[in-house]
Amino acid sequence: MQTQKARKLLMIPGPIEFEPAVLAALAEPTPSHVAPDFIEVFGRALDNLRTVFQAPDGQPFVMAGSGTLAMEAAVANLLEPGDRVLQINTGYFSDRMAAICERSGALVTHVPAPAVGDAPGLAEVERALQQDRFKLMTITHVDTSTAVLTDVAALAKLARSAGALSVVDGVCSVAGEALPMADWDVDVALTASQKALGAPPGLALVMARPRALEAFRRRTRPVASYYADWSNWLPVMQAYQARKPAYFGTPAVNLVLALDVSLAQIIAEGMEARVARHARLSEAIKAALTALGLSQVPLRPAVAAHTLSAPYFPAGVDGAALLGKINAAGVILAGGLHPALRTRYFRIGHMGAVNAADVLATVGAIEQGLHGVGYRFDAGSGLAASQRVMQGQAGHPPFA
Ligand SMILES: *Cc1c(COP(=O)(O)O)cnc(C)c1O
Repeated sequence: MQTQKARKLLMIPGPIEFEPAVLAALAEPTPSHVAPDFIEVFGRALDNLRTVFQAPDGQPFVMAGSGTLAMEAAVANLLEPGDRVLQINTGYFSDRMAAICERSGALVTHVPAPAVGDAPGLAEVERALQQDRFKLMTITHVDTSTAVLTDVAALAKLARSAGALSVVDGVCSVAGEALPMADWDVDVALTASQKALGAPPGLALVMARPRALEAFRRRTRPVASYYADWSNWLPVMQAYQARKPAYFGTPAVNLVLALDVSLAQIIAEGMEARVARHARLSEAIKAALTALGLSQVPLRPAVAAHTLSAPYFPAGVDGAALLGKINAAGVILAGGLHPALRTRYFRIGHMGAVNAADVLATVGAIEQGLHGVGYRFDAGSGLAASQRVMQGQAGHPPFA
C-alpha cells in the first residue's frame, strides 16, 4: 500500500479518485447475486439511478462492462440494418459512437464541428435533419478528447421535432454536468461507473425512457449483440426493482455495492449543488490556465465542459517532459487523445469527489511543472486566479 505522503492525486478524466466509503464496499465479502440483502441494494441503486439521471419514467440498465459497452447497448437495441443515424460530432468518442452504430448496420450521417474545439451549430443540425428520415440522433454530451460540451437540451428538441430518438453519451457528464433527462426529453442517456458517477471502473449504465423502450419493442429483427440485448436484461432489471431474484449474466456484485454507496452520496449532495460545484471548480482551473498563458482546446466558454479541461502545451514546451514534472510534483494528468492534436495538449479531469484543495494542488503542481521545464510566468498567478474564482471574486475568464 502507498503511504499518504507518497500518494499522488489522480486528476485524469476517468478513472477518478473515489470516496473511501465507496472503495470499502469493494472489500465487503462478495454476496450471492440473489441474496436478499444484495437484491435490496441492487433494487435501491436502480431506483436511485432514476434520481441521478433525473428520469422518473426511465428504465435503468446496469451491466458489467465499460462505457463503450453502454454506448453499444444504447444503440444496438434500437437500430436495425438500414436505419439512419445523425451523429453530432465533437471528437474521438463521437467517432466511436458512429462506428458502433455502423456495426449494427445503420447508415451514419455526421454533422461535423466547424473546427476541433467547437460544436456543430444548431442551424446546421436542422438542415441535416431535413435531408433524411433519421431513427436516432447521437450526441456526445462532453467529448473527453476535446473537452467540448454540446447543447443537449436544444439538440434533443431538434431530434424530437424531426421524429428521431435522442441518444446521449453522458460518460463524461452524468452526475457532473446538468442533464435533466425528462425535462430535456432525452430518450436514452448512458454512462460508466468510473467518471463523475464516482465508482471504480467496470459498470456500464444506460437509462432508457418510454419512447426508446417502445422503439425497442417494435423492432423486427434480433439485436445484433447477444450480451447487450435488452430482451435478456429487462426482466432482470425489473425483477431487482421489484426486489425479486433474477439471473441472466452474473452482476459485478461488489461494484454494485460500491455504486449504491456513491449514488447515495450524490443524492445527499443534491444534483443542483453537485453540478454547481463542478462548474465552480472547473472555472477555477480554467481561470488558472488563462492566467498562466495556456490556451484551451474548446474555443469559448459556451462549448467548454465542466468535468475536464484540455489546455494546449505552451509554445516551445516539451509536453511529455511537462507532464512528467507535474507528476513528480504529485499530480497525475492525462495526455491528449484527439488524433488531430494528440501531442499538442493535455487533459485535467475534475469530476466526482473533487474539491477546492484538489484544484489548488493541481494548479500548484502545474506551476511547478512549468517552472521545471523553463517556462516563464509569474509564480503563483495561476493559484491566485483559482482562488479568486473559488472566493466568488471572478467569473468565467476568456480562453485566450
Ligand atoms: C470514457 C468515455 C467513453 C468510454 O468509456 P470506457 O469506460 O473507456 O469504455 C465513452 N464516451 C465518453 C464521452 C467518455 O468520456
